[in-house]
Amino acid sequence: MENTVMHIYPGSLQVRGVSAFFIGRNDKSDYLAVAGPDAELFTGEIAMYQSKQYKLCPLTVENSQVIRELFAFTNPVRCEGRAVSLGMGDRLGLASYGHIRSVLGTDVFPVLAQQSMRELNLTGRTYEEVLAAAVWAVFREGYTKGYGADGDHLKTSEEVKYALGCGYSMITLDCSEHIRNDYAAAEQGEVDAQYEKLPREVTSLLEAIYLNRSFSIDSELTISFGEPEFRRIAVVYYQAICHAVDIYEEHIKSAGADFEVSIDETLSVTTPQAHFFVANELIRRGVEVFSIAPRFPGEFQKGVDYIGDTVEFERDFEKHVKIAEKFGYKISVHSGSDKFSIFPIVGRLTGGRFHLKTAGTSWLEALRVIAMCAPNLYREIHTFALENLADARKYYHITEDISDIKDISSAADDDLPAYLEQNSSRQVLHITYGLILTAKSPDGQTIFRDRIYGALREFETEYGAALERHLGLHIVACKA
Ligand code: ZN
Repeated sequence: MENTVMHIYPGSLQVRGVSAFFIGRNDKSDYLAVAGPDAELFTGEIAMYQSKQYKLCPLTVENSQVIRELFAFTNPVRCEGRAVSLGMGDRLGLASYGHIRSVLGTDVFPVLAQQSMRELNLTGRTYEEVLAAAVWAVFREGYTKGYGADGDHLKTSEEVKYALGCGYSMITLDCSEHIRNDYAAAEQGEVDAQYEKLPREVTSLLEAIYLNRSFSIDSELTISFGEPEFRRIAVVYYQAICHAVDIYEEHIKSAGADFEVSIDETLSVTTPQAHFFVANELIRRGVEVFSIAPRFPGEFQKGVDYIGDTVEFERDFEKHVKIAEKFGYKISVHSGSDKFSIFPIVGRLTGGRFHLKTAGTSWLEALRVIAMCAPNLYREIHTFALENLADARKYYHITEDISDIKDISSAADDDLPAYLEQNSSRQVLHITYGLILTAKSPDGQTIFRDRIYGALREFETEYGAALERHLGLHIVACKA
């Protein structure tokens, strides 16, 4: 490691007993500097700075685990009653310091490490690395107010076990593979036939609870179950509920993590009855629910505003909020990046108590900074993204017509940031992130990855400012 100290991040200075710590930066990388007896706990190299001996330690997963043992505030924690929790996915592992700054002076609980398995696979990262990036940012900023780590959209027992084993404080269980959406719009005869296949002891218990019963949520909302719709809901959701109960019993209960149940990754909108049924069953069966993510009407495409009728959204969202309030958990809004037209509705109807997930927008802010500060790199990324769009569409759904994206070869450098203002190019750049980050030349070298990291390191101040501003706009809009 370079034996030079060029910059010390002032928020990172810590003293523990007779040991001193800070995060420094030289021309090559950031590192942890430790002086005193604690230095021997870390892996690094001895160096002299201002006639004092330090160990300069790379910001590895291994060293982050030692920091977590020494400084409790660097560990992810549960949300514990904080009204607004904001998921801030960081696909590069560089955004958390900007995310932290965006919540300073607010009561927002930041979930700094939030990645799905799909994102891990598309970026070639591990849960250990995702969490370590957040730990180092928290330490660097000296942020002691607590943050969360969300194993997002996990589907299997092994995935949940892996995230919890790394210390994640929140698990979002994606139940989509257990939701029988093929029956959501099926003929009633098919639904009935499927219903008869459920174990008799199950259906008789469910019938006793729900069939032809009404549940008063508040003075305006009553949830009722007539026989056809009761049967349909049971058929569609019963297996998903069992899956969530099993995962809770097997892993979550003993680990004590915030448990979100996601039923949003489906084609059909979640009805209030279905939401009530799922929630009531989970709670009746002993699950402590932190949040539920229903599928709302309209489209929640990545990195762009809500597409749909906001009046219809509001009407529907209000019912879901009432159900969540009745049971005492939070409503969770997924794909929440840039949904500015509905943020005021979310904030108002929930009384400022909700969970919102963002991720793609921080990647787009990275590209905005690259478009401003490293125009040639941006041009290459932009061209690559367009050329590889068909591949990316296999993972992400967008409806955007891309024919309105102006040919970049005729655009001046000053015009490049405008591509980050336009919905169609935003979506193209959003969904191709995995291909961009993992693209390799024939000799096995990454084409963009190292240059993107290099540029964002060089223009760290700009990237931090862009994130602080843009995530800050999300927070402000939810309070409007
Ligand atoms: Zn989701």
